[in-house]
Amino acid sequence: MMGKRALVVVAHQERTSFNYAMKEAAVEALKKNGWEVTVSDLYAMKFNPLVSRDDITGKAQDPENFKYGPESMNAWKEGRLNEDIVTEQKKLEAADLVIFQFPVFWFGLPAILKGWFDRVLTQGFAYSLSSMYDNGHFKNKKAILSFTTGGLESMYSPTGINGDINVLLWPVQRGILHFCGFQVLEPQISYSIAHTPPEKRSLILEAWQARLGKILEEKPITFAANEDFDMSFAGGFVLKKEVVEKNANNKYGLTVGQHEGKALPPESQVKAGSTWL
Ligand code: FAD
Repeated sequence: MMGKRALVVVAHQERTSFNYAMKEAAVEALKKNGWEVTVSDLYAMKFNPLVSRDDITGKAQDPENFKYGPESMNAWKEGRLNEDIVTEQKKLEAADLVIFQFPVFWFGLPAILKGWFDRVLTQGFAYSLSSMYDNGHFKNKKAILSFTTGGLESMYSPTGINGDINVLLWPVQRGILHFCGFQVLEPQISYSIAHTPPEKRSLILEAWQARLGKILEEKPITFAANEDFDMSFAGGFVLKKEVVEKNANNKYGLTVGQHEGKALPPESQVKAGSTWL
């Protein structure tokens, strides 16, 4: 049974922004529905997004040839990570649901949020080669990307000038969240928010609150399962032959990433329970 502790990570520099309003709406709705809520307001915290050897206190294992991954893993094991990282790791560890609220910058995350992922999801704490994707450390937690765009929804369609939103979402939803094991819920997308009339913006905020009221009923979006791959260095971590054969007559590839040279499965990164698998 899932608990009801939420962490909201917000990355917007202005309190009058729509992103901030979405954050406030989320906190209000979750609390109203009995959730315990913690917020990481990255700009207000002046969160340092830069990975560096200053993230680690004490003696480095190999100061001449410093490697961030192993050094941060050792520091995590030995309690030598910087306090600001440890604070965020504790918030994350305690959360059953994590919401990331941000504006799309350059088809991706604002630097401050990317830096939060870079520094907080340290090796050992968030992932290892033996525990990734379905087996990831956070497999009992749920995560949602809630973001705004400048571009219109049509610009992010499969024929739109910006390209298919499913392609944009893959690196964060598969490469970060699912890699660390999170069950990824459908993203909450507020397209072209500055050109949306005020009354529609209010409806978006209301719909977000209504969604959060029933969030525990939602199913995560689907990825290929670990067991679909040959999970060994010798096998190269590629789809098993039988999985490729099973999907041979399907006009769509298995996922956005494992597309097998075929058409991308429509809406697979934005809708839960896609049926192509
Ligand atoms: P705001 O402009 O703050 O808000 C929109 C409107 O909502 C405003 O009128 C505001 O007053 C109003 N509002 C605030 N609170 C409420 C409330 N409670 N109720 C109703 N209305 C409210 N876009 C893309 O599509 N792709 C990109 O690659 C991209 N790259 C970018 C890179 C950079 C560096 C920057 C700066 C922007 C980029 N953008 C891009 C645009 C960016 O994504 C949008 O500007 C952003 O998503 C808008 O969100 P906001 O919260 O800042 O909106």
